[in-house]
Amino acid sequence: MFNLTNVLRPYAWGSPTAISTLLGRTPSGGPEAELWLGAHPDSPSLATAPDGSTKSLDALIADDPDGMLGADARTEFGDRLPFLAKILAASQPLSLQVHPTLAQAKDAFAREEAAGIPRAAADRNYKDDNHKPELILALTNFDALCGFRPATQSRAVFKHLSDLFEQVEEAFPQLLRDVISDLSAAEGSEADESAAIRAAFQRLITGGNEVTDAVSAVVTALNASRAAQPTHTAYLRELSTVISLNGIYPGDPGVLLSLLLNRVSLKPGEAIYLPAGNIHAYLQGLGVEVMASSDNVLRGGLTPKHVDVPELMKTVEFRALPVPRITAGSTELGQEIWQPPFREFQLQRAILEPDRPPIPLAQNGPLLVLAVTGSVILDSPRGDLVLAHGDSAFVPARESPVNAHPVSGASGAAVVYAVTVPAPAPN
Ligand SMILES: [Zn+2]
Repeated sequence: MFNLTNVLRPYAWGSPTAISTLLGRTPSGGPEAELWLGAHPDSPSLATAPDGSTKSLDALIADDPDGMLGADARTEFGDRLPFLAKILAASQPLSLQVHPTLAQAKDAFAREEAAGIPRAAADRNYKDDNHKPELILALTNFDALCGFRPATQSRAVFKHLSDLFEQVEEAFPQLLRDVISDLSAAEGSEADESAAIRAAFQRLITGGNEVTDAVSAVVTALNASRAAQPTHTAYLRELSTVISLNGIYPGDPGVLLSLLLNRVSLKPGEAIYLPAGNIHAYLQGLGVEVMASSDNVLRGGLTPKHVDVPELMKTVEFRALPVPRITAGSTELGQEIWQPPFREFQLQRAILEPDRPPIPLAQNGPLLVLAVTGSVILDSPRGDLVLAHGDSAFVPARESPVNAHPVSGASGAAVVYAVTVPAPAPN
């Protein structure tokens, strides 16, 4: 087993304290947005062997793929760690974004490589050739925008805005009248609804200055209406989101696009999963995020970064969907497992009570482990590894099975999160 030293990504939206508080570390002093646990070539973890030697996790796997990943994972995913785990701490919204399918990522990555676009270029869309299905488990209250809601609901919010404009005697922008008529075409089949959502989305993302002006008019009207009627609470959460997004990205198309999306509030322990094509934005909160090992993101707003509208329109799935919540199943041995409908990963949480039998961690091939509360002993047939609060480890396939238990004399429960590939389907 290998101790890991993980890379911290200091994106501007990151909380300066949430990750260090969770892991018992000294804050860096700047924003701490994401801690990456994995072998993605852009920020691989550094693995320390029991003899003290170190190697980056991607190199360690490349040197002994069979021992590290196991034959099944190699056959299915090739010689790379199939998943990437992150602790994500947002004090401001992340960009509105969508991730490609596997086929699309393979094609588009090859195309950008062939065109010679440098990987770090601002207009480069595809960082690798993989898809990026993801899951986020909230550790604090966690807010997000996630997938399209039914067009009738979005239409009702825009109609409500038009009423507010009337009350404060402002002219309702023509662009937003057109959005209402786009969404009105949703009556009928699912295909009609998808076409209506696509039309409204396209109008808002390609509207240029007209959109900037509409965002500004909406925020002015909302503020005037709130001043006149402070107790007015219809669509409070959606409209408060519009105002707070505009405070950070004034005039950005994402401010109004947010009204087309499900507005989700997760409590600690609740999770959602996001397949390819699901447009989403995390707004604030601390969570454990797991994904296929990829950094392929197409942005649609709420960002100063490159937005490639044609590529985005090809990637977004324009379909109203319920919020893709996922609950954990519990094993007989006491851990909870979140298993989204993806091949690359599952997430488990084991709560290790003192004086209780050890919990055998679910492991299919490679395993990442992170101790977030208390100290933990990982006990494998090839030796033990102690993880202090905040420490993490990579357990090679060949060192399975691992039992986890708190250090002796621990006063309270220890908590570990662990990521592995899903169990093979029963025959
Ligand atoms: Zn995402």
